[in-house]
Amino acid sequence: MSTVRALRPSTVVVGLVTGGALIVAGWWAYRVLHRPPAGPGGGPGAAARLCGLVAGYLGVVQVVLAARLPWFERTVAMRPARLIHVGCGLSFLALIVAHAVLAIASNAASVGTPFASALIGLVVDLPYLWLAVLGLVLLLIAVVTSVPAVRRAMPYGWWHLLHLVVHPAIVISFAHQLYGPDLLTSPARVLWTALHLAALGVFAWYRLLAPVRLTLRHQFTVAAVEPETHGVVSIIVSGRMLDAVGARPGQYFRLRPLDWPMWWHSHPFSLSAAPRSDELRFTVKAVGDYSVAMAGLAPGRWLLVSGPYGALTTAARPRRPVLLVAGGMGIAPLRALFEDLDDTLDDDLDITLLYRTERADQIVFRGELDDLADDLDATVHYLTGPAPTGEQDDPLSCQRLTTLVPRLADHDAYVCGPPGMVASTVRSLRAAGLRRHHIHAEASTF
Ligand SMILES: Cc1cc2nc3c(=O)[nH]c(=O)nc-3n(C[C@H](O)[C@H](O)[C@H](O)COP(=O)(O)OP(=O)(O)OC[C@H]3O[C@@H](n4cnc5c(N)ncnc54)[C@H](O)[C@@H]3O)c2cc1C
Repeated sequence: MSTVRALRPSTVVVGLVTGGALIVAGWWAYRVLHRPPAGPGGGPGAAARLCGLVAGYLGVVQVVLAARLPWFERTVAMRPARLIHVGCGLSFLALIVAHAVLAIASNAASVGTPFASALIGLVVDLPYLWLAVLGLVLLLIAVVTSVPAVRRAMPYGWWHLLHLVVHPAIVISFAHQLYGPDLLTSPARVLWTALHLAALGVFAWYRLLAPVRLTLRHQFTVAAVEPETHGVVSIIVSGRMLDAVGARPGQYFRLRPLDWPMWWHSHPFSLSAAPRSDELRFTVKAVGDYSVAMAGLAPGRWLLVSGPYGALTTAARPRRPVLLVAGGMGIAPLRALFEDLDDTLDDDLDITLLYRTERADQIVFRGELDDLADDLDATVHYLTGPAPTGEQDDPLSCQRLTTLVPRLADHDAYVCGPPGMVASTVRSLRAAGLRRHHIHAEASTF
């Protein structure tokens, strides 16, 4: 299997900033050097347009990020990718607000009226400004529903649907920009339109057409639903030429069974076994409407599938001992990775799996894990017990990890589980001396 180099999030950020700087430089050369801002409202007016321009660029970036480009999804870990997305989204909102305030201030200064009168005057005189206001409201809906506490309180499917209102907001802000003085007549209008259309094309391809193409090509069908432990089932998916899907253990797909209530949106689920040419296995814990309905799928049902996604793979080919740390359903991708280590590690390297659950009856794949451990001569520790109240009773604290895993600092660690467990385990591993690039961590929930 080909080796994919992990992309550093800092490289992505530098690329995005460079793109933004080029656009600003182009605008500066075209607009400011040729026709410098004049009059009392000139300065704020130019600043307003600059904010609008950079916001437009960030809108394009967000659409491309939301397209789930395979290359990006497989090389950038989920957490930094999410931070980049959130950073761009909040900057987009801040720039749009700054654009609105500066545009009104510019109008107030040039007409010589107070700020409030300029605001009312602009909304009355320029009807298309209602579009901008509507775009801002849609954007605020997406931002407010993404505040972690609000997001956790609603089913993933509803949050996802509400988040999609960002796209009309971006279209509206683009339409509004075309009537601005910088783009109304200039050739930049053509370039700006082409940039937005290209982003839309990328989005339409990867979010809409590619999953349909993948599904038609491979004909993913539920072959069986097998109980694992209480509330957890494995869904065996059959299909044609599944090795051509290019999935690696540790990756996830977005599944959308074409049955009510699941057909209108997809949810992410990890491979829980190494992919085979005729079969993929997913293991699902029932936590809400969608996952409960998945457990009731009948054999023969069709699935619309997109992916594979995710950078939690052995693509970096560890040459060091391997530590796998799973919490709850985080065991699904790590069970698949565990199986993969047999093929990926050429030396007799140490492998340790730590599997954390609250109760023993929540352990999934116990038999399979023990068999794999025998085959690989690996060590497995099942760490059960209530959620920790602090370092002293945390089985994944730095001190406990150091005791459980000899030469811990020499390992490559793969961590997957609930966000809180992942964050504290990463802290423990760092405190134990592991360098950041030897820790590969993903949360198994949103
Ligand atoms: C990259 C990725 C891979 C994933 N892989 C798997 C997998 O292999 N197997 C699997 O079962 N789940 C996996 N999940 C989580 C899974 O997608 C969600 O559990 C599912 O989408 C929940 O949808 P729902 O409508 O049933 O529940 P919702 O109504 O959306 O959620 C119900 C409640 O359960 C909480 N919750 C969500 N997921 C979990 C969880 N796993 N454990 C405990 N509480 C949870 C939510 O915060 C919410 O409060 C993965 C998530 C991500 C981001």
